[in-house]
Amino acid sequence: MAKRLQYYPRLGKNKISLTTLLIGLVSISVLLTFTILLFASYQSNKQSLFITTQGLNYSTAAKMSQTMDSLFKSMRDSLVFTAAYLSDNRQMSEQEIQQQLELLRHSSSYFNSLVVIDEHGIARSIAPASVGKTGQQISTPASWRALASRKPYISEPYTSATGRLIVLMSEPLFDRDGKYRGFIGGTIYLEEPNVLNTVFGNSPNDESGSYLYVVDTTGHLVFHPDKRRLGENVSANQVVQKVLQGNGGHQLVVNTRGVTLLAGYSPVTANGWGIIVNSPIGVVQEQLYRLILSIFLYTLLPFIVLLAIAIWIARKLASPFVSLADLVARLGQGARITSPDAAKHWNREADLLTRTITDAFHGLQQQTDQLAHAAMTDPLTGLTNRRTLDSLLSQWTLEQSPFSLIVMDIDRFKSINDTYGHQIGDEVLKHLARIVIQSVSPADICCRFGGEEFVVLLPHSTLTAASVVAERIRLHMEQNSSPGVGMITVSLGVAHYPSQASNAEALFHLADQALYKAKETGRNRTVVASTDDSG
Ligand code: GH3
Ligand code: MG
Ligand code: MG
Repeated sequence: MAKRLQYYPRLGKNKISLTTLLIGLVSISVLLTFTILLFASYQSNKQSLFITTQGLNYSTAAKMSQTMDSLFKSMRDSLVFTAAYLSDNRQMSEQEIQQQLELLRHSSSYFNSLVVIDEHGIARSIAPASVGKTGQQISTPASWRALASRKPYISEPYTSATGRLIVLMSEPLFDRDGKYRGFIGGTIYLEEPNVLNTVFGNSPNDESGSYLYVVDTTGHLVFHPDKRRLGENVSANQVVQKVLQGNGGHQLVVNTRGVTLLAGYSPVTANGWGIIVNSPIGVVQEQLYRLILSIFLYTLLPFIVLLAIAIWIARKLASPFVSLADLVARLGQGARITSPDAAKHWNREADLLTRTITDAFHGLQQQTDQLAHAAMTDPLTGLTNRRTLDSLLSQWTLEQSPFSLIVMDIDRFKSINDTYGHQIGDEVLKHLARIVIQSVSPADICCRFGGEEFVVLLPHSTLTAASVVAERIRLHMEQNSSPGVGMITVSLGVAHYPSQASNAEALFHLADQALYKAKETGRNRTVVASTDDSG
């Protein structure tokens, strides 16, 4: 038992308070909601942003492949037309052929250079003349292949006799007898301004970071914003493989350099090339983060307000329970609480609990007060009892606080009892109590000392003033007959502290002697003690 009591005060210290608990709970709820909201909007925005970007890339690729398709057809047509023209005019001098090539080059800007190569692989005419290979054998593999195929042909990117990275597009030349006469070829200088740059532009789209590239039928780059990569073989790329199989579409892909991309792709029907539009996922993600940041900033203030309101409500909710717990704890420690807070609460349970505890507390307090009162008073007369008188006397004598003392005794009370009975005798005692109360001032202490003896303590009263009060009591008794009995008289003795006695015992002795004197000298009188009598 002792162990438990010792442990009790420490119990509360390690516990979480209701306020902290509620505030913690609502704070966590609000913060979780905020986080979930951000996460959900991140996920949904990510989905829609990815789908939109991929769709956009696909539609750009499809549009560009159409453009490329018709461009390529026009390029082919221009070569076919010139080839036919040259076949029809076999007698043209080399200079005239040269002029014809220059005309084609300038009128369309399809090709960076044009060349007519005869059946032996010798360059007959080249436009522009600055290429400077006229009359020479052109011995690049692509040129041999074009020559050998005797059909319309497009090469892979390769390094030309002049050291340029080029693509060759050729159309065979036949004379009227159907004899093979070589080919007319148009080249695209991949690393210099060319027809592809004109169509696709040069730089990636700054905002989305998306860019476009073109692969030929073997998966070599023929157009790419990064010129250093031109001619590179990217056929390992999944998307490149798909587009070269003639498929269009979009998908998430990791490129040959390990970068994740949102790709849209579309094949070019006319030449079997493929067009791919890519958006690096990092750039899209950055857009996403910016979006989420703005959502965060927009929702932050409302959430802070919400959090503040939630904390405020949590405090309000907890406060009645906290004050009740405090009250009960203080009661447990034996504190006397005069009026506990009985404030009304909007929360049903808090209100019920507060009212119940307050009522219980009041009941308890009342009982305690009643018990205390009963312990201090005489049940018959309602006057202070002897125990209270003793404690007051010892307190005043300890403080050396001056006061006067009146002791009184009913005259011939025994015969009243004998004549009228004990019950009437009690009525006489009550009558005397009323008379005494009416005759003294409120600060005076009236006490039933025992039996039919009464005592009055008059704080700060002089001996003379006390004897006046004693006389008043006596006269009132004399003048007011006791119900059912008639006139009852009392004898009184008066003494003063500390002028006549240094302690309570001596003082009582003096007052008793005075009373005795009053009895002796005929009763119904007041005798003031004189110090001379003490001997
Ligand atoms: P006196 O004081 O004038 O000398 O005569 P007395 O007859 O009053 O004598 P005493 O004071 O000695 O008598 C006390 C009597 O008071 C004895 C008893 O019958 C009566 N008495 C004491 N206490 C009570 C009480 O509580 N009720 C009643 N009815 N009588 C009581
Ligand atoms: Mg007596
Ligand atoms: Mg008496």
